[in-house]
Amino acid sequence: MNIFLYQHDLPDNLNLGETVAIDTETRGLNLKRDRLCLVQLSNGNGDAHLVQIAAKKQKSPNLEALLKNNRVEKLFHFARFDMAVLFGNVCPVLGPVYCTKIASKLARTYSDRHGLKELCSELLSIELSKQQQSTDWGTEILSEAQKKYAASDVLFLHKLKSKLNEQLIREGKLEIAHHCFNFLTHRVTLDLQGFQDLDVFHH
Ligand code: MN
Repeated sequence: MNIFLYQHDLPDNLNLGETVAIDTETRGLNLKRDRLCLVQLSNGNGDAHLVQIAAKKQKSPNLEALLKNNRVEKLFHFARFDMAVLFGNVCPVLGPVYCTKIASKLARTYSDRHGLKELCSELLSIELSKQQQSTDWGTEILSEAQKKYAASDVLFLHKLKSKLNEQLIREGKLEIAHHCFNFLTHRVTLDLQGFQDLDVFHH
């Protein structure tokens, strides 16, 4: 496993394949208040690519091109938050999306635990540490522990996707899962327009 760290943008000519796992770290969970600090990416081969975003914003043309590439599937855990953060701080996420949290909720109806830690433990027998979850991601120099933690949020998403797909296919839920993934871009628009707490489908 290798962890690569870049400033502001991905390097030129880095090909992360047809499905890229993506996660973000911010200074908090409030989309309006808290800025993006780090974008983690992996093509599922065990390497993680971390792009540090400074407080003083600079352009990220290679990252933008990847996020807008319609031929690349973006794989998230809780895509709703990451897509909104990326929309607000980099650019809209276009093209196919897969969310392991939505997949888990549709597939693993026997459980109410759909966190990344639970999924890795149950489906992959991998124990993730969440120790660095509350940390200052805006720091200029990331610690080794922060880099390892950030990387671990993208390293296992490809394997989780294939495990979850097995259950979705077996239970006849793959199609509705993809409809939910396709709705994410509109869910994010609703969040950014202030409808984050209103279920517009509710009575
Ligand atoms: Mn994370």
